Amino acid sequence: MIPYSCQDINEADEREVLRVLRSDFLTQGEEVPAFEQALAERADAREVIAVNSGTSALHLACLALGLSSGDIVWTSPISFTASANCALYCGATVDFVDIDSETGNLSPTVLAAKLAEAEASGCLPKIIIPVHFAGQSCDMDSIARLARQYGVKVIEDASHALGADYKDRPVGGCRYSDVTVFSFHPVKMITTGEGGALTTNDAALAERARALRTHGITRDPIQIPELKSEPWRYEQRELGFNYRMTDIEAALGRSQLARLDAFLETRRRLAQRYLAAFRDSPVTTLSQSPDGESSWHLMSIQVPADARAELFHRLRSDGIGVNVHYIPIYLQPFYREAGFTAGYCDAAERFYAGALSIPLQTRLSDDQQSWIVSRILQHLGA
Ligand SMILES: *Cc1c(COP(=O)(O)O)cnc(C)c1O
Repeated sequence: MIPYSCQDINEADEREVLRVLRSDFLTQGEEVPAFEQALAERADAREVIAVNSGTSALHLACLALGLSSGDIVWTSPISFTASANCALYCGATVDFVDIDSETGNLSPTVLAAKLAEAEASGCLPKIIIPVHFAGQSCDMDSIARLARQYGVKVIEDASHALGADYKDRPVGGCRYSDVTVFSFHPVKMITTGEGGALTTNDAALAERARALRTHGITRDPIQIPELKSEPWRYEQRELGFNYRMTDIEAALGRSQLARLDAFLETRRRLAQRYLAAFRDSPVTTLSQSPDGESSWHLMSIQVPADARAELFHRLRSDGIGVNVHYIPIYLQPFYREAGFTAGYCDAAERFYAGALSIPLQTRLSDDQQSWIVSRILQHLGA
């Protein structure tokens, strides 16, 4: 089966992992800070906090922004459920903003209308979490302007978008948000096995997230003057978690990050070939904004909704590991229990009905890709 996405591990990556395995520290050594610094440089952010998953990064981002019960979070329905679950972890409630059907990203037009309504009824969200679907940045300029106008915080879910640009700056620089979150799951742009990170330019927020990553414990000599006479001392000041990344993962992450530009080049080249191949066909591709360049985490195509299921089965039997991103989050049984019903976000549901993710990864050969295109067009009778 040719997977829709997968990791790309080379000998340099293996050597880095082995080097750490043979060293004194498998966790809490020098590797995590080194990975964080490399990522800070790449994403052009002042602070990076590496954690054990993208989901943990979302949870810490919400907590560090002070999210708690009684608060409301808004996100996109076309995302992985973690983008919404993080609000519930904090005791907040979640609501969904419909998408722009051309890009799959949260629609600033819908957001503007929904914010005006929410203000009138006194139920503004505390945080909005736009998701950079498939690796293309949302219209962050418009989202940031609305967020400022209504006093709402912004977390960018950039799980798909490491290496993407927006207005000549890397995604992750937080010029339009309070925090950005990345995932290093094997299907994402780079991998650490499991892993994630938050980026921010807010030093206080970073300090809060760092403490929460490790049980809410601090060993900071400035905060604990008694450390001088009692060097064993540490203080738990609030309830945190163990969301630490290991040194093994961080070393792999740093090695992978050094390869990110090569990964991007391959993905972008393959994506352009797909775009050319599907021109004037029944397959439509996501429209690309001139404001930035996608990282091309996913090749998400739209096919006629009534042909999607059959096409999915046929491609899978061909050995082509297609997938569907995403079932609107609120249609999950767990969210339906909270009262959401079909029809809530019309554009998202239409998008889901025709969505198919086809293989786009660094190990895909040109020949495999041409074959995938021909199978899709043949099955669609084009
Ligand atoms: C992968 C992903 C996450 C969660 O990341 P994990 O590292 O798997 O916890 C969150 N949001 C989106 C959009 C994702 O694709």
